[in-house]
Amino acid sequence: MAKETIDNLPPLREVIAEHDLAAKKQLGQNFLLDLNLTSRIARTAGDLSNTTVIEVGPGPGGLTRAILASGVKKLIAVERDERCINALTDYLAPAYPGKFEIISGDALEQDFEALAPAPRRIMSNLPYNIATPLLIGWLKNIEAFEGLTLMFQKEVADRIVAVPRTKAYGRLSIISQWLCEVQPEFNIDARAFTPPPKIQSTVVSFTPRPEPLAQASWNAMEKVTAAAFGQRRKMLRQSLKSLGINPQDAGIIETARAEELNVEDFAALARLLEAN
Ligand code: SAM
Repeated sequence: MAKETIDNLPPLREVIAEHDLAAKKQLGQNFLLDLNLTSRIARTAGDLSNTTVIEVGPGPGGLTRAILASGVKKLIAVERDERCINALTDYLAPAYPGKFEIISGDALEQDFEALAPAPRRIMSNLPYNIATPLLIGWLKNIEAFEGLTLMFQKEVADRIVAVPRTKAYGRLSIISQWLCEVQPEFNIDARAFTPPPKIQSTVVSFTPRPEPLAQASWNAMEKVTAAAFGQRRKMLRQSLKSLGINPQDAGIIETARAEELNVEDFAALARLLEAN
């Protein structure tokens, strides 16, 4: 597909110039203007014809256009930059009557379940400064979503998909993989963005598991992973002392370190904590 041909809309650079959308660093704005790449991201989500997608931070609308062009049932975008909202209202909403809605507001304050009917999916080139808190919020309520298709800075994506005994393995790996199958899709070079960030980016797909990998409560999982990785070089008998549990009571060697445990081990510790 040639650039700028996924729809008959003006090129993104024209939209940016006309609506004065110079990127603002404090809003984590790095715009993706290559419609081949945005189409590739949209395609990773598969068939969207029955799905309502919620997009966080549409900016000038690169990914937004690709999602709309893919035949999505409906797209609801949440953006806090009024300049982008005005631009999208002007040039994109009229091209997709009834299919595209823009919510003005802070994504951190949204009730995503209330925004759209099921089946719903989150898709976003995330503002990097709030990517982790947004992800944690969605994971906490993951049954509400058919899936998440998210772009992170590569270092965060590496943590999400990391396996035990690696440097990147930690709380984000455990909580993500406990609840979802996580798939790194592809990297995007910094030069593809305007302005280019300092780091590479990676698109990650999250598919909720029918059941979590092991039984445990969210709160207990948060507590044990926080305590264990808060002192990741210490043995578990030391790092879990503050929680008043002994890893041996969950069948885990007390001299082990946090990064040696898999998701099921952490769930066993979480159940032990709850039982105490
Ligand atoms: N989707 C566009 C793209 O791919 O070119 C823009 C992505 S840019 C990395 C992040 C976007 O999130 C910006 O449009 C920014 O204004 C928006 N944003 C930043 N903080 C936000 C927040 N708290 N709530 C909603 N949108 C936010």
